[in-house]
Amino acid sequence: MSKRQTIDTRVCIDDMLGPYDAKVNPTNLWNGFLSPHFTLDTVRKLSARTLEIADEDGFDYMETVHVIDGRADSPSSVHVIEGGTDRDGNPQRVAVHVRWPVIDEDPEQAVGIFKVRPGTELRTTEPAGEGEPRAVVFVVSWQWWDDIEGGEQAGVVYEPDDEGRYAVGAWSWWWRYAGWRCVCGANSDWHETECLCGLTRDGQPKTPLGIAAVKAGLTLRTLAPEATSALVDLTDLARVCAVFAGDTEIDTADDTDPFDTETLGSADTILRKALDNATPADLAAAGWEYIPDPQSDRLYRITFPAARTN
Ligand SMILES: [Zn+2]
Repeated sequence: MSKRQTIDTRVCIDDMLGPYDAKVNPTNLWNGFLSPHFTLDTVRKLSARTLEIADEDGFDYMETVHVIDGRADSPSSVHVIEGGTDRDGNPQRVAVHVRWPVIDEDPEQAVGIFKVRPGTELRTTEPAGEGEPRAVVFVVSWQWWDDIEGGEQAGVVYEPDDEGRYAVGAWSWWWRYAGWRCVCGANSDWHETECLCGLTRDGQPKTPLGIAAVKAGLTLRTLAPEATSALVDLTDLARVCAVFAGDTEIDTADDTDPFDTETLGSADTILRKALDNATPADLAAAGWEYIPDPQSDRLYRITFPAARTN
């Protein structure tokens, strides 16, 4: 996978799997689905989740991801993996044969995954050795159980790419970008970190007051897109008393002003709801700036992120 073409993002399959961190080549699509590359640590999480789903919903419903750890100098090992029962109630089991000495040369050939016939006794031999740690990653396709012949590979082995990542489910699973939701209401793919409203994914306001300031700003901007801040008087009921575009005040008072009382009123309502029980410390934490003023000792400035034009 060429580094230039890849992006760091998060992927998921509906609400079932993920979101997981992954590298993705956005142009490598299979029926519109992604082929994400995961670190081994992420593959372990993915493995645990597939086993959890198979336990709950049945193995004919879920392919399961497996990681077996060993050493480059280990003798061959054999692992028995249980996968529920078949239609006749017989246990479904696969034997995984790992030839560790050839794991670096040919990971795919080094791993054999075979159906175990009911009643067969199998001896498990764990990996040994003290050399470099190695891992094998594979998926067992329980859903095709009845179609898999005894001598056939009963799963898919994934080789690490040159960064040691595994493209589990590439060109077969329905991986999509995971998303994030901005407080303005817009949804973006995980790697699209800047929302058109001007906020970023990692710079989302967390407190009710911070969120209210953003929403009040968006409300004012429906009529004055150039607005960048507003003064709010908290004496009695909170009220937006001035709106600014940079240093210039936008008229809110006469017949030519861009605001109607309804829009100002709904901005006030958003702020009032968030101000219930708010302390001066809460205001400061949310980025509300105290403005000394001879007429009011409770005047604050709220600032809106600059909207993006692209
Ligand atoms: Zn936004």
